[in-house]
Amino acid sequence: MLPGFDHTYARLGPAFSTPQAPDPVSEPKLLLWNQSLADALGWSGDPQSDSEQLAALAGNMPLPDSHPIATVYAGHQFGQYNPQLGDGRATLLGEWLTPAGTRFDIQLKGAGPTAYSRGGDGRSPIGPVIREYLVSEAMHTLGVPTTRALAAVATGEPVVRNQIEPGAILTRVASSHLRVGTVQFFAMTRGGDDVAALVNYVVDRHFGAAAEAGDQPAAVTLLEGVCEHFARLVAHWQVLGFVHGVLNTDNALLCGQTIDYGPCAFMDHFDPKACFSSIDRQGRYAWPNQPGIMHWNLAVLAECLLPLINEDAEAAQQVAQEIVDRYPARFHAHHQRWLAAKLGLDAVTEADGALIQSFHELLATEGLDLTLAFRWLAEMANDSLDHTPLPDLFTAPPALLNWADDWQTRRKANKGDPSAITAALYSANPTIIPRNHLVQKAIDLTESGDLAWVKSLVDRGQRPFEWQAGDVEWARSPEPEERVTRTFCGT
Ligand code: AMP
Ligand code: MG
Repeated sequence: MLPGFDHTYARLGPAFSTPQAPDPVSEPKLLLWNQSLADALGWSGDPQSDSEQLAALAGNMPLPDSHPIATVYAGHQFGQYNPQLGDGRATLLGEWLTPAGTRFDIQLKGAGPTAYSRGGDGRSPIGPVIREYLVSEAMHTLGVPTTRALAAVATGEPVVRNQIEPGAILTRVASSHLRVGTVQFFAMTRGGDDVAALVNYVVDRHFGAAAEAGDQPAAVTLLEGVCEHFARLVAHWQVLGFVHGVLNTDNALLCGQTIDYGPCAFMDHFDPKACFSSIDRQGRYAWPNQPGIMHWNLAVLAECLLPLINEDAEAAQQVAQEIVDRYPARFHAHHQRWLAAKLGLDAVTEADGALIQSFHELLATEGLDLTLAFRWLAEMANDSLDHTPLPDLFTAPPALLNWADDWQTRRKANKGDPSAITAALYSANPTIIPRNHLVQKAIDLTESGDLAWVKSLVDRGQRPFEWQAGDVEWARSPEPEERVTRTFCGT
């Protein structure tokens, strides 16, 4: 099959989207290009050598068969319903079909105003584009479902925020950009019009196998599928110390990928209340609240689907409630599975609760680096500490050494293949995460025109579970003066 664009979502009709060509920019310049993603997509263009391709990724020239649109959605932002949002600064070039027939949305983010810009300029500064590129690609290599970054292009035009900043456009790739907020727009703002068409579309696109396997309304298939996606996704965020920062319903994708790398951040030292976003004053989206907030987002979706679940309101309510109520157990199961892998245990049971809790308490009271502390366990279990740069990066305090005695005792009770359990320790505990101070340095250098360092950061991020030369720099915790404790969404 030849790769190329398709437009099934646009064909749903004018209620769902508005045709929207990107707004040309004066002086496009390539910042970053993701050749391995291009290869995976079967994307033959290369903006490094082809100026027309660069022009297309800057929004200056249409790509063959692309019919760009902006899509409409709504959403609860910090708990308040906003009846109409939409792609205010993104245009969907189309759905790209890979040679294997897999469908991906390809968007230009920051490509100028749309029908949904609500007075905004439709643009993005370089900083948030570089942040999204780095962090989304890191999430991918860490194994977390996520939207991805194909290219970052500077526009050559200024963007006015608190100060004047250089503008940029990100080419974003997602399984789709359909959100809880998309369903909300039709169910709540439009009073139910077209919500059935949307739900059928989403189920067909993302939950086809489940729909075929069961004989139930599409809305039930959707709710069950999203319940599982959210539970799995948040469990993974939690164990990596990832704080999304703005988990509004419009930033919760139905396909289960992480989206919107605005004020997000990874923890360095373990902080059980971690919250980085400058606009999240109440800590609504703080690290400990993420599992609960995604449960809330799921409940919002459920409410939108009620009329499609059963004509009888009470029966519909009961079915929806049962599915929503399954989320905590599903989250817990995924979370326990991750903790078992990260701690080198065959399984985590109730009896391990105290051991795990005391580990986290110790991380918090000793102010230990979350990523390095877990990796220390992996190297300890494999007796490999001295063959790594870790002794230069992390010193286990006496309290941790004491705790490790209990942990090793518990590990002796492991059943199952010990080499598989210790191997899992390596694949669950990264050496490298996109630390805030690295992302900030990458942004500063990119803005000053130096791309070499950010490219080496991207390259190093490709193999986050191994040690490499130079890791004393890439893997270390920030010095106190380097710590980034506040992040900004850059809209
Ligand atoms: P976000 O905080 O990125 O999830 O954005 C929330 C909403 O604001 C979405 O509908 C965006 O499309 C819109 N938005 C964010 N920044 C801009 C901008 N600079 N111009 C127009 N719309 C924007
Ligand atoms: Mg968003």
